[in-house]
Amino acid sequence: MALEDRSTVMDKLTSLGKRKGFIFRSSEIYGGLGSTWDYGPLGVELKRSVTASWWSEIVSKREDVVGMDAAILMNPDVWKASGHVGSFQDPLVECSKCNRRFRQDHVEGDACPECGGELSDPRMFNLMFKTFIGPVEDEGSVAWLRPETAQGIFVNFRNAQEASRQKIPFGIAQIGKAFRNEITVGNFIFRSREFEQMELEWFCHPDEADQWFEYWLQARFDWYLSMGVKKERLRLRPHTDDELAHYAKMCHDVEYEFPFGWSELEGVAHRGTYDLDQHIEHSGKDIRYLDPHTHEKYVPVVIESSGGVDRTVLTLLADAYDEDKIGGDERVLLRFAPHIAPIKAAVFPLVKREGMPELARRIVEELRGRSWNSIYDEGGSIGRRYRRMDEVGTPFCITVDGESVEDQTVTVRDRDTLVQVRIAIDSLVDYLAERLDPRGQKS
Ligand code: ATP
Repeated sequence: MALEDRSTVMDKLTSLGKRKGFIFRSSEIYGGLGSTWDYGPLGVELKRSVTASWWSEIVSKREDVVGMDAAILMNPDVWKASGHVGSFQDPLVECSKCNRRFRQDHVEGDACPECGGELSDPRMFNLMFKTFIGPVEDEGSVAWLRPETAQGIFVNFRNAQEASRQKIPFGIAQIGKAFRNEITVGNFIFRSREFEQMELEWFCHPDEADQWFEYWLQARFDWYLSMGVKKERLRLRPHTDDELAHYAKMCHDVEYEFPFGWSELEGVAHRGTYDLDQHIEHSGKDIRYLDPHTHEKYVPVVIESSGGVDRTVLTLLADAYDEDKIGGDERVLLRFAPHIAPIKAAVFPLVKREGMPELARRIVEELRGRSWNSIYDEGGSIGRRYRRMDEVGTPFCITVDGESVEDQTVTVRDRDTLVQVRIAIDSLVDYLAERLDPRGQKS
């Protein structure tokens, strides 16, 4: 029977995450640091599956998207142009009851306009982390840690377009760290102050923008399905008018039903020409696009897909977490889609003699040679070894027994169905390749 009550899943994931090496509190031996996290040996594998899959779908498989990797520190004028320096320099108050944040000058009276709760004292708050370049800490040396990766793309729009000879419509994609001095953090890695974004800025003609918006909305939703996330726990939610940024024409969030409720995984937004207009105005550089056929010179509209790597990792963990019973014994398992599982296969010698360990190690070596993270485990009963692998979501466990040494066959046990098949070692690679191929995944 599958897990029905998901209310305790976040706590279970936090402890399993630490125990099994997915996610640790940052600098834990010093007591940690508020809401910053480190990815352990299995966590980093999972995270890399996320970014690799995104990059493959968005960049590698498409002729019309190019990638880039901008510096985290940028000229501070970028953040003036983007509105980040100005728009966060407001007195912020926070409701102690519902945690909503407001600009003090937008609130009448001193109670929360949403729930009537008590508001904190106002403070000037900028979400961006401030730092200084060079030895002198003065206003002239201020720099900011980027709060989003998107601006690195916008300021390079012309560079990337000309260098890659792309024609509109086309996209520029980037994955990288972003930093926000969030007032409210929490829910494990859902909201932290240092996180990673996957952003695509799609530049198109204003006349085609609405179609592209629909296109990317669907494509992005489908990507989460391709990662094995359950369809009934995903939805697209259009922003209400008061949520929309003043320049945005439309925005939908891809949301996931976390154990703590529906929350944003990614925003897909029709940003109009706002970003490039701002950079044209502030930099004084004409970075408009010149259509080589029509000779029309214009500022393209941007459709943005902005997702969080960490939130996707959390989604994959929360979605995969399950508990069931096998023959009266409880087991905890992570039902990862095989192509994203941190460990693809584990190989067990039935006993530590008669050539079994050597054969098992040879198989591990062969699988690792294919870049499939695989491990050798000879500790404890086979049942215990299975449980260890179920808990970290390893889809295939391969057992080498006495027969294997004789006839070069092994048993492969499937994590979800528990079915065991006996196959020739020669055909093992093909057998696994077929099942580890993301094109074969369904949700
Ligand atoms: P929220 O409303 O949750 O604060 P946002 O609307 O400010 O998010 P965006 O500015 O649209 O977020 O950022 C795009 C994506 O970056 C988000 O969908 C999310 O996946 C990720 N992200 C943003 N802030 C954080 C954070 N503090 N921690 C982890 N991921 C984040």
